[in-house]
Amino acid sequence: MKVVVAVKRVVDYNVKVRVKSEGTGVDIANVKMSMNPFDEIAVEEAVRLKEAGVATEVIAVSAGVAQAQETLRTALAIGADRAVLIESNEDVQPLAVAKLLKALIDREQPSLVILGKQAIDDDSNQTGQMLAALAGLPQATFASKVTIEGGKATVAREVDGGTETLSLTLPAVVTTDLRLNEPRYVTLPNIMKAKKKPLETLKPEHLGVDVTPRLKTLKVAEPPRRSAGVVVPDIKTLVEKLKTEAKVL
Ligand code: AMP
Repeated sequence: MKVVVAVKRVVDYNVKVRVKSEGTGVDIANVKMSMNPFDEIAVEEAVRLKEAGVATEVIAVSAGVAQAQETLRTALAIGADRAVLIESNEDVQPLAVAKLLKALIDREQPSLVILGKQAIDDDSNQTGQMLAALAGLPQATFASKVTIEGGKATVAREVDGGTETLSLTLPAVVTTDLRLNEPRYVTLPNIMKAKKKPLETLKPEHLGVDVTPRLKTLKVAEPPRRSAGVVVPDIKTLVEKLKTEAKVL
């Protein structure tokens, strides 16, 4: 059973992003970039399926600039077998990524496609859903447990106030939530091994996909600054202020 995993190169989650002065986006010049955290969980899950003897091959795929190769090398170091970079200097938006992944799964015919539930840069939460629709595949989003057996995936999903369990016929699309697993640390020997694993580079044209952006960002703004708090001398004053100023009592 082949598993395809989508990994996106994003600004590292520890970086405090700054909005560009023109308000057109965030400044990513000289900023640390890493694999989208939900995609690390996706790769970990795929590799665990392989280690459990359920999957036979794990293929990591990324769409984006040439430096996304580093992100793919990380996926290979976690344990993916090979990688495909679909190289483009465009801002590859979720619909374009879904079309690229659809073209790639037509070629690879995997039984399972695992994506993150959302990319922490655009927070779209769209790509997995669009891919499932374009490919006509069943989908389970926000997965917190995945079990594969007898040509079916049983997926526990995080929903408001609990979990929902779905049974999907393979091939299927799954998107990961935070509780699915805890990704392993990448060790130096595995980073070295990853350098020798195959990494293929394609262009969107090779897959017959037009990645021209369909959405235009009109404005990006910092959240409003919080005003400073005040120290009150006693509870009586606090209650008074909550009643008269905050008007929450
Ligand atoms: P989004 O819909 O943008 O929030 O992204 C959801 C998931 O789709 C991510 O966690 C990735 O698994 C996948 N994805 C989005 N953009 C890309 C990309 N450029 N390359 C590879 N995978 C992507």
